[in-house]
Amino acid sequence: MITTHHDGANNSGAGQLYIVATPIGNLQDISPRAVEILKKVDRIAAEDTRHSGHLLRQLDINTHCIALHEHNERQFSEKIIQQIKEGSDIALISDAGTPLVSDPGYFLVKLAHQEKIRVRPIPGPSALIAALSAAGLATDRFCFEGFVPSKGGPRKGFYAKRKKEARTMVFYETPHRIVESLNDLCSELGEQRTVVLARELTKTFESIKNDSAKALRDWVKEDSNQQKGEIVLVVQGFKAPEGETLAEQTEHTLRVLLKELSLKQAVKLTVDISGEKKKKIYNFALALKDSE
Ligand code: SAM
Repeated sequence: MITTHHDGANNSGAGQLYIVATPIGNLQDISPRAVEILKKVDRIAAEDTRHSGHLLRQLDINTHCIALHEHNERQFSEKIIQQIKEGSDIALISDAGTPLVSDPGYFLVKLAHQEKIRVRPIPGPSALIAALSAAGLATDRFCFEGFVPSKGGPRKGFYAKRKKEARTMVFYETPHRIVESLNDLCSELGEQRTVVLARELTKTFESIKNDSAKALRDWVKEDSNQQKGEIVLVVQGFKAPEGETLAEQTEHTLRVLLKELSLKQAVKLTVDISGEKKKKIYNFALALKDSE
């Protein structure tokens, strides 16, 4: 059991569970505290023991590793919790970045809380925060939505559902689907939406590009190097057309009519249906067209 002054004593005799972030590319991003904890604990639970073994050897950490991956998470979490209750300190790491962020560990941490075991985060790299911090998009409010669905239909639906999301959105995407994904993003969120493609963060070929969805899609399509490596997409949140908002039902009517009719006809019918002022509907319709 680790009982340094800052860690505080654990009265029950049980050990502690450490959730330790590891680098997402650059080895130097591991914190001294993370190294210290990984050396001191009794065991490290790793998503892939071979992959993590490589990292641990480079850091001269010889702690015994056990596997905790998504296929055995429930069963092994119970064993790990039992070992902690018997006094062992255990650290959880994932292949890269912060455990539980699109990685295993949720069940283990939930169980630890149920069993009144102390859970200690050892914070550090995460691709989501690294991308967001360098994206140049609003960070006061954001949402992380994990991996974009792999198949075309669900992916389109996924983007369509988020069309009106006002917060900055962060997604994980795989390189071999990036072109199709940006195509769907263009069609569902509009070609003018600002998107940031953050690729290979902290690694040799790191690139971060902030542009319109269309320009980014064309760039990635033409340069196959942009279709390689690890990718985070950061997407600007929806902005209501300047100075104007419409009642939800009126906006819906206008959007539907704009898909079928000319701008003039759609505006006229929306005015007739809603009783709103023509100028307001007209300006809103123009702004909608611009953002398509
Ligand atoms: N737990 C990790 C974290 O905290 O970032 C994420 C694990 S998730 C299984 C892996 C995904 O994270 C990759 O497919 C990619 O979308 C993103 N990712 C991880 N490392 C990255 C990097 N160096 N640059 C860009 N994206 C990265």
